[in-house]
Amino acid sequence: MSDLRVVVIGAGMAGILAGIKLQEMGIDNVSIYEKADRIGGTWRENTYPGLTCDVPSHHYTYTFERNPDWTRHLPPGPEIQAYFERTCEKYGIDKLIRFNTGISRAEFQDGRWQLTLSTGESDSADIVIAATGVLHHPSYPHIEGMNDFEGAIFHTARWDHSVALEGKRVGVIGSGSTGVQIISALAGVAARVDHYVRTPQWIMPVNNGYFSEEERAAFRADPELLAEAMDVDSYNAGVEAYTLGLTQPQSEGAQFFRQACFDNFENSIRDPDLKEQLRPDHEPMCKRLIFSPDYYEKIQHPDARLVRTDIERIEAGGIRTVDGELHELDVIALATGFRADQFMRPMEIVGRDGMNLETLWARRPVAYLAISMPDFPNFFMLNGPNGPVGNFSLIDIAEHQWHYIAQLIDKVRGGECAEISTTRQAMEDFDTARVEAAKKTVWYTGGCKSWYLDADGVPASWPWNYSRFVEEMSEPNWEHFEAA
Ligand code: NAP
Repeated sequence: MSDLRVVVIGAGMAGILAGIKLQEMGIDNVSIYEKADRIGGTWRENTYPGLTCDVPSHHYTYTFERNPDWTRHLPPGPEIQAYFERTCEKYGIDKLIRFNTGISRAEFQDGRWQLTLSTGESDSADIVIAATGVLHHPSYPHIEGMNDFEGAIFHTARWDHSVALEGKRVGVIGSGSTGVQIISALAGVAARVDHYVRTPQWIMPVNNGYFSEEERAAFRADPELLAEAMDVDSYNAGVEAYTLGLTQPQSEGAQFFRQACFDNFENSIRDPDLKEQLRPDHEPMCKRLIFSPDYYEKIQHPDARLVRTDIERIEAGGIRTVDGELHELDVIALATGFRADQFMRPMEIVGRDGMNLETLWARRPVAYLAISMPDFPNFFMLNGPNGPVGNFSLIDIAEHQWHYIAQLIDKVRGGECAEISTTRQAMEDFDTARVEAAKKTVWYTGGCKSWYLDADGVPASWPWNYSRFVEEMSEPNWEHFEAA
């Protein structure tokens, strides 16, 4: 097909990647639809104090666009957002993006995707790439009285920057990566910060030092020096060890991460009572591991307080815990995570012969290799359901997925077929094997609940090691696809 039209949904990290790669492939009839007024996805929506990515800075970039200018070993949120904005401009992706325009419906009819935009307009495409992200629907807790609070209350992904925090009493509900980063940022800044922790988590120590101006200038001047400092091979070996740790809880990698968490816990908390209250009751890595250079130090700050007593309700003046105590507050931040099973929903997607995505996903989101679904021809996902998620770079994951998707697109572009999607059998076999493997991972065996688990309690993630993922992404197994 000579003038292939491709529509990409979402202008976050993965959508921008798709735009750049499509251009590289010489496909220029491309539109990227973005519901918001700016690019950035996660990094646009999350602006909370202390926002950081826990992947080492120099690995949290596209492989083709390294960034010598990171100021810290772990990239601060605003620098990540600026990096994506710069990259978007440099590669001319801005001109492909239509902002303030979501896609509300997509239906495969007569060999093409017919799209209804949120503006009411229509469009159509030969190929659709869903790059809508995983963690973008805030999960609000069900706590009685939330509307009665007279101070400011908001989800961490909807941070209200009009609310000054200095001198205020702030309560943070939730002890995932977000809650922990906020406590680190606010202890000693707010008059008081209370951390409401229902389930204490393991904390992996990490260095978050600064790159000096001299180092950054040297990286700018000599890309090889930057490549050397990054040491991609040893980073990838670390990711491999990490994924082995998740999937084979007795492996050396698992022992390493476990021991580092135990040592950090044992050596960092002075007060024995506080220590007992912070002691997790599950295996390290069962929940997504938290990497923090200073949470234990900050929760011991004189202006910080750990609250382990369950919340009974929220009242006008603050949070009342089940022991009857009212914790008076001016601000409540809900670090209560996201609904991780939504992906491109609430968009309505109808595939071949009227097959509705809601029907296919009635039990749980499924996709062959996280990329393709039967009866949804020429519809491919980046960071789709059950793909790898963890403490490693989702940019790297998306690049590998793109390498795979590009080969599917090439079949259509080269005229070998007009439509391509995985077979029902291939997806069923894949999902059966995935679920079986998922039940052997520490996410399942480690004695915890987390957002990794689907409604049936099965981890909704890639349950094998990293090298298997890289191998699978190198080339499609064409027997697992049907083309017409
Ligand atoms: P999360 O990991 O899902 O944590 C949600 C927290 O809210 C948990 O501690 C949970 O407690 C608590 N919670 C939920 N409902 C509650 C209720 N009704 N009462 C009391 N506590 C309640 O969410 P997150 O911290 O926003 O992180 C989500 C994901 O975003 C991370 O796992 C990560 O993938 C990503 N993230 C990454 C970074 C990074 O550095 N790369 C930073 C931030 C976020 P329970 O544990 O008891 O359920």
